[in-house]
Amino acid sequence: MSLHVPTLVLMLVVGFGLLTLQLWLAGRGSLSRGELRQLAWASGPFCAGFAFFALRPWLPGWIPLLGGNLLLMIGIAGLTAAVYRHLLNRGLPVWHNWLFALAALAVPAVLDVATPVRVATLSAAMALLLLPATVAALRRGWRGELTFRVVALMLLLACTALWARAGHALYGLHGQTDDEMALAWSGAIFMLAFMAVLAAGFSFVLASFERVAGQMRELASVDGLTGAVNHSTAVSLLAHTLERSRREGQPVSFVMLDLDHFKRVNDQHGHAVGDQVLRDVSACARARLRGSDVLGRLGGEEFGLVLPATGVAGARHLAEQVRLAVEALELKGDGGRPLRVTLSAGVAEASRSDTPETLMHLADKALYQAKQKGRNRVVVADDWMRNSTLQAVVG
Ligand code: GH3
Ligand code: MG
Ligand code: MG
Repeated sequence: MSLHVPTLVLMLVVGFGLLTLQLWLAGRGSLSRGELRQLAWASGPFCAGFAFFALRPWLPGWIPLLGGNLLLMIGIAGLTAAVYRHLLNRGLPVWHNWLFALAALAVPAVLDVATPVRVATLSAAMALLLLPATVAALRRGWRGELTFRVVALMLLLACTALWARAGHALYGLHGQTDDEMALAWSGAIFMLAFMAVLAAGFSFVLASFERVAGQMRELASVDGLTGAVNHSTAVSLLAHTLERSRREGQPVSFVMLDLDHFKRVNDQHGHAVGDQVLRDVSACARARLRGSDVLGRLGGEEFGLVLPATGVAGARHLAEQVRLAVEALELKGDGGRPLRVTLSAGVAEASRSDTPETLMHLADKALYQAKQKGRNRVVVADDWMRNSTLQAVVG
């Protein structure tokens, strides 16, 4: 097999050029994300660096060596910054800047040394510079978006290829710089490393899309203030739970919670304090749920608990625990004044014929009675409420 390195170089110029264009267009559109801007800053220098190498036959030897290698190192630093922003949501650590400075200084320092030493030094410097991004991508990125796994694998390939090239230069090229085949292989390994970087770049764009899609899905189903699922998601999860429990012969219960005299909290302490109370109350309730239970914000200061595999006794017990925990919360009101809130709860266990609507209606009836009886209490729906609920829903 014969390898034509200049053709590979040209492919990389075109590839990184396209990636730069794509990132620039994505940034102008609706995908204006910090990590993609950083990747664009990395992709441009990669393209320019390989353009230097492509012009090698027409330039004095030191210019492409100096310019090309420096630009590739800038590209690697930019790519690392983008990976850090995506995975850790922070900029590059200071030690990485020192690492970059050292790697960049190595470029002019080895311009005049023998080819194997120069190739080994520059490859090792680039591999070292790429290592933090590779480690972060493998350790952190593997658990994130599925498409990010390709980024991690490609960075690993690039890093390994650069180390292999450094080793090949020291042991394989040693004393045979006139060996055309050995030089061509060294060039090919270098190209392979940067083709992997290019593939990592395109996969990075896809991973960013996957993250945005996940965030949009979450926004559509989760209440932004409290982190509880929103009304429509709670209803569809309840429908799903009812369906499943009918098949499996398991009980399902639903609890409706409503903060007592919450309007007063807003009136006396302001809306911001009211919002914080809603956050604290939902966190307090969530802390007492099992993994399969669902906390939904049904509206305003009203929450619902979907409790699979839970009969009325278990649901009442849980509602009572939440009520006591909320009562015990030491909240801060306007100006740091102490603030206490209570809630009322209505509990209902589903019958075989219940739909989400009938079950929620029933729990609402019980909640209404808890309010009537003086608030800060849990009431379980009884047969009388069930009959009147059926009449209300059917009639
Ligand atoms: P009750 O004990 O009968 O439930 O009385 P209440 O004052 O809690 O009930 P009401 O339905 O009269 O008032 C609910 C209040 O909840 C009215 C509204 O200002 C407040 N509220 C609803 N949503 C929000 C929100 O997102 N943030 C804040 N701060 N307040 C909210
Ligand atoms: Mg209320
Ligand atoms: Mg209410």
